[in-house]
Amino acid sequence: MLETLPKWIDSKRLAVKGHHLKGQVAIPKLSQRLCDILYDTDGYVQIDWKFVLDDKKHPTISGQITTQLKILCQRCLTPAVITVNTKIALVVFNEEPSQYEELPLDYEVIILPNKPVSLLTLIENELILALPIVAKHEICPSNQFEIQDKAIEQDEVIEQDDNPFRVLAKIIK
Ligand SMILES: [Zn+2]
Repeated sequence: MLETLPKWIDSKRLAVKGHHLKGQVAIPKLSQRLCDILYDTDGYVQIDWKFVLDDKKHPTISGQITTQLKILCQRCLTPAVITVNTKIALVVFNEEPSQYEELPLDYEVIILPNKPVSLLTLIENELILALPIVAKHEICPSNQFEIQDKAIEQDEVIEQDDNPFRVLAKIIK
């Protein structure tokens, strides 16, 4: 069941309780930084995040972030929908971990202040990291033109083989 997500979260407190945060947020509620990338801000972002302490008592956040974002394809400049369905695995530190710190495998370090932080900002950061570097259709219709171009090139090659001068050159040999 989707619950309303809190605005602020304290990862330590949630991890101590082994809290499970599952819910969704409307995309327009996220800041301009993300919305500027989008063609259309319709839709929701779903999160399903579990908070637990690791064996060194560091809070960890792991789970899934899922959404569909409408972007402008940078190849054909028409709107495209990209599906984000990304796993996250974060271990929370209050400051840069020392180089001697043994970090849990398969977890990315995230540095958060030792006080409640904005859940929306956290969601937005993870979403921006999950986006492809160049926004484009998964299968871009403009690729069809590329295929046509290749077919035309091949036709030209065939024509060149039929070049009468070349045929003449063969006869002379
Ligand atoms: Zn495209």
